[in-house]
Amino acid sequence: MITCYTRYIGYEFSFLGIILSELYAREAKVGLQMERQFTLVTGGAGFLGSHLCERLIERGRHVICVDSLITGRMENIAHLMNLKSFQFIQHDIIEHLTCPSQIDEIYNLACPASPVKYELDPVHTFKTSVIGALNMLVLSLEKNARILQASTSEVYGDPRVSPQPETYWGNVNPFGPRSCYDVGKRAAETLFHDYRDQYGAKIKIARIFNTYGPRMDPEDGRVVSNFVVQALLGKDLTLYGTGEQTRSFCYVDDLVSGLMALMDAPLDVTGPINMGNPVEFTVRALADLVLEKTGSKSGMTFKHLPEDDPKRRKPDISVAKDVLHWQPLTPVSEGLDKTIPYFAAQLGLEQKTDQKVS
Ligand code: UDP
Repeated sequence: MITCYTRYIGYEFSFLGIILSELYAREAKVGLQMERQFTLVTGGAGFLGSHLCERLIERGRHVICVDSLITGRMENIAHLMNLKSFQFIQHDIIEHLTCPSQIDEIYNLACPASPVKYELDPVHTFKTSVIGALNMLVLSLEKNARILQASTSEVYGDPRVSPQPETYWGNVNPFGPRSCYDVGKRAAETLFHDYRDQYGAKIKIARIFNTYGPRMDPEDGRVVSNFVVQALLGKDLTLYGTGEQTRSFCYVDDLVSGLMALMDAPLDVTGPINMGNPVEFTVRALADLVLEKTGSKSGMTFKHLPEDDPKRRKPDISVAKDVLHWQPLTPVSEGLDKTIPYFAAQLGLEQKTDQKVS
């Protein structure tokens, strides 16, 4: 009898044990979410940043968006402004940022990223890249937060190796018009490396290759925005140089998935990790595709190639594939179909491909 009772209690305990362990597991999961629910995004009103803020909110995070609005645009985040889970702070990260809130993750995206825009005020671009990164690293230590740096394919300069793996050290001019960005971003990587080694900062570095999609600034001077806008307006597409230089174009949603996968990866996955679409296009081939997709009758004009314009750019993404199980899913043709209507709306035009469908 006693044995049975003991056994019964034993069953009871093991039953209770299962329930308790399940409850603990659930609590641990909730705890884990609670632990990392406040995310600060610098450059959150920019092209990439606004998509990232949106995706983080969809995931249930509270997002603090910091942007100087130098190249960021309020229209990119207008639809988020009334959400309780979204807070906007207008601030330039070259200045110290005091943030009373708990913060668990920082995505440091703030910096003009198109050559036309970052060359407008190169000293400020350099300060944003370096002093801005430093300020965010200090904040990450203060908050014990993970911090992801938006680095760039520009750290490879005009590469002599193609595709570019993370182990390639690059071919960068330290004394030219692009240097403020290329060298600034390289210096930021160094700071991230040293803050991890000296102070234990929880760093992550993504080297972002050319990215496109809705919310690009139609006037940022980049090849995708220029070509689509020119094609929609019936103006000649401006090809710099011979148009034989190459780039590899990643759709914004894919890129954002990659950034989030890197942030979520274990702490020892620090990068730098290349993120981009490895399908390589000549600028000329992109022009042809844009003309086809928009149904435009625009011609092409050849213009002077900007100084230090890289001849080839194509990411080797084997590390991202192996470690993060990430790769872009959107072919350029499909990404353009999603992007062209956005530019048409920005220009106040009816979109020709839509007209064909309806
Ligand atoms: N480009 C071009 N026509 C344009 C804008 C850019 O031929 O109207 C070229 C530019 O010279 C470069 C490539 O397209 O070779 C990509 O330029 P973008 O400014 O988009 O970015 P980058 O990769 O140079 O940072």
